[in-house]
Amino acid sequence: MELSLYDTWTRSIRPFTPLNPGQVGLYCCGPTVYDYAHIGNLRTYLFEDSLRRVLHFNGFAVRHVVNITDVGHLVSDADDGEDKMEKGSRRTGDSAWQIAARYTEAFMADWRALNLLEPTLWCRATEHIAEQIDFVQTLEHKGYTYRTSDGIYFDSGKDAEYGYLARLDIAGLKSGARIEGGEKRRPTDFALWKFSPPEQQRQMEWDSPWGRGFPGWHIECSAMSARYLGPWFDIHCGGEDHIPVHHSNEIAQSQACHGTRAANFWMHGYFLKTDDGKMSKSSGEFLTLARLVERGFDPLDWRYLCLTAHYRHQMVFSWQALEGAATARRRLTEAVARLPEGGKVIDTELARFRHAINDDLNLPRALALAWEVLGSAGDPADKRATLLQFDQVLGLSLGAICEVAVPEQVRAWIAERETARSARDWAAADRLREAIRQAGYELEDGTDGVRVRLAPNLHQE
Ligand code: AMP
Ligand code: ZN
Repeated sequence: MELSLYDTWTRSIRPFTPLNPGQVGLYCCGPTVYDYAHIGNLRTYLFEDSLRRVLHFNGFAVRHVVNITDVGHLVSDADDGEDKMEKGSRRTGDSAWQIAARYTEAFMADWRALNLLEPTLWCRATEHIAEQIDFVQTLEHKGYTYRTSDGIYFDSGKDAEYGYLARLDIAGLKSGARIEGGEKRRPTDFALWKFSPPEQQRQMEWDSPWGRGFPGWHIECSAMSARYLGPWFDIHCGGEDHIPVHHSNEIAQSQACHGTRAANFWMHGYFLKTDDGKMSKSSGEFLTLARLVERGFDPLDWRYLCLTAHYRHQMVFSWQALEGAATARRRLTEAVARLPEGGKVIDTELARFRHAINDDLNLPRALALAWEVLGSAGDPADKRATLLQFDQVLGLSLGAICEVAVPEQVRAWIAERETARSARDWAAADRLREAIRQAGYELEDGTDGVRVRLAPNLHQE
């Protein structure tokens, strides 16, 4: 079965063919780094990682670009309120630049802990100010902008298709997220460049043809995706909240500047909710990955739980469900560990797996298939080879397994060492290997992961 994906633009599942044979350009809206990512944000990156792995599985090379929003994202999506970075700075007393550095680092640590594939390129908004100014100038020359006392705005009335992605009812303006704001001509107009407030010294500001200020949030993704993937690329992703505002605005900018809707497919991950509603960073009430680890979970337990729900369904968090995922993941990895090596992949099972993942990323079915293979009557070594092939997409590190029962502390060290190794911190990795050896266990790094054995000498004493 050929790969088919749901495209929010057409509201349909359609066959995916790369614009350039064999090559896929993928842009994913990244974090606003004024606080830790919550596990809802991470659910969206897990969906995007599954997409990337499925693209690889289909033999495509993927150029994966993720931005870091370190300026310009205002507290309100309606272009007023404080910049989230400057607000973060007031909250903690650190500079906006320190905040950005700290939470970018924390974000990347979460990224590695979840076994997300490293993007081809991370790009920071603050490092692409010139590209954003250029983009706004082009829009200005083409007559899509106007000036108010606080900035340069995009005139959404000039785009007859504005809001199509969200099927916005422009006439009735039933876009609940918007409010009439200041001197804007229309509620759907949005800031391209904001002037620094005269009475206040901003920490992040730059000179521009319109005066000192900072870029609006939406322009960064249009400018950086065009720079690194071109004006017409394959797939643009984000969370479902981006459909009515951020992505509608990106599309309007791209339409005006390049005459394209930027990406051939627009894909959206649905929200993680809590019992009492949305999980949101701005409310300050949210669960981080670190919090799950404090409660004794492995980051991959969260990955496993996310695999059990389709990305186009909202998911409600519960500790009980996470417990279930942790138990299932442990059983699966331990069962794979007991299977002998040296087998070959079972083609019929692989075909069923391909069918599931190519059907708009049906990872829940793919995961269920892994259990079916495990329970089937096939040759044990072949089952192992097949499951490790599945793991290229599942990303559960099914090969990084223990052949012996290993204490919690040693498991934690092994996970920490994996993180250190992916960060190329070899000194820390060696230190952890030594601590593990002192505790009586030996590690063997293989092509399909790390194996753990009892260290014979220590245990003979
Ligand atoms: P932010 O750091 O707020 O800019 O968001 C980073 C990513 O997480 C974006 O793709 C958002 O659409 C997505 N996102 C935000 N809240 C949630 C949530 N509760 N569940 C899933 N994804 C979310
Ligand atoms: Zn974006």
